[in-house]
Amino acid sequence: MSFFTAGMVCAHHHLYSSLARGMPAPPKTPTSFISVLENVWWRLDAALDLDTLYWSAALGAAEALMSGTTAIVDHHESPYAIDGSLDVIASACAMVGVRSNLSYGVTDRWRDGKISSAADAQGSMSPEAQRGLRENERFLKAGGRGMVGVHAAFTCTDETLEAAANLAASLDVGVHIHVAEGPDDKDAGARLESLATDKWLLVHSVLLDRKLQGTIVHNPRSNMNNSVGYGNPVKWANTTLLGTDGIGADMLEEARLAYVKLRESDITQTPDTVWNWLHNGYNIFPEASRDEVRWNYDNVDSAWHVAFTPGIRCTDVFIEGEHVVKDGTPTQFDMSEVRAKASESAARLHKKLS
Ligand SMILES: [Zn+2]
Repeated sequence: MSFFTAGMVCAHHHLYSSLARGMPAPPKTPTSFISVLENVWWRLDAALDLDTLYWSAALGAAEALMSGTTAIVDHHESPYAIDGSLDVIASACAMVGVRSNLSYGVTDRWRDGKISSAADAQGSMSPEAQRGLRENERFLKAGGRGMVGVHAAFTCTDETLEAAANLAASLDVGVHIHVAEGPDDKDAGARLESLATDKWLLVHSVLLDRKLQGTIVHNPRSNMNNSVGYGNPVKWANTTLLGTDGIGADMLEEARLAYVKLRESDITQTPDTVWNWLHNGYNIFPEASRDEVRWNYDNVDSAWHVAFTPGIRCTDVFIEGEHVVKDGTPTQFDMSEVRAKASESAARLHKKLS
């Protein structure tokens, strides 16, 4: 019985999406996974500049910390503000005090400033993909902590996928990539089979049709929200981690949802399965296992208690012995300032989108 856990790890986040809340409705109502991407997320990421990105990342990181999440694996895209974007996210996370592992999502879906929803596998690498690769390389070679990001196989040519895999191998990191999230990416398994290594992060893997090397990141809330079906990670032997895919970073909340979704399909499952997914986050951030988080509930170290107790809140966070959240309030930065700046940035961003 304890009020304490270690720091939580969000193994797949999009800090650029923090300001999406309240954005203007898309021009037409999305009717499929691809149209959600085209009408919501690919419009949002195209409207980002580096200043907006900073406050979006700062807000997302601050909300993560206040949810007891001390480490974030982020996947970023901002096609009109690629160069330096990973430094901007890193500095926002550093300001907040959250550990980060960053990558830029390389894609060929942008050509000459125009979107072409799916890339031709046999086509040549786009200038935008080259810039994305350079941003990953620049950030990692300068000592940034991260991976080489790729959006998804279905928006990349084979040439781009190979270049990303080679860059990652040369830098001794993995590739952080969305895999078979929806029907448009159902060929991901075939296209990535010869490239993936055990360092790769395979995000979603909902419709994956074969075993790939790497770690699977399960994002149950996002998968439900996008109506892509249930990719039960238990069916794979791969290590599984838990992410939010940009819908906040409250990992106990995500774990509760992951558990009930798992249980819906298999009544013999226990919350320990999901608890292990949370713990596997320490494979990426071992030091987060030494962070301390205090919660307003006295059996938070029990997977069964967490699974059946909605609304458990983080009250205090200690990172490297530093008391960085005290009675629900951050001590290292001014949360009201972050909210105010994020709100101004959101207003600018939403105006651009309207
Ligand atoms: Zn994602």
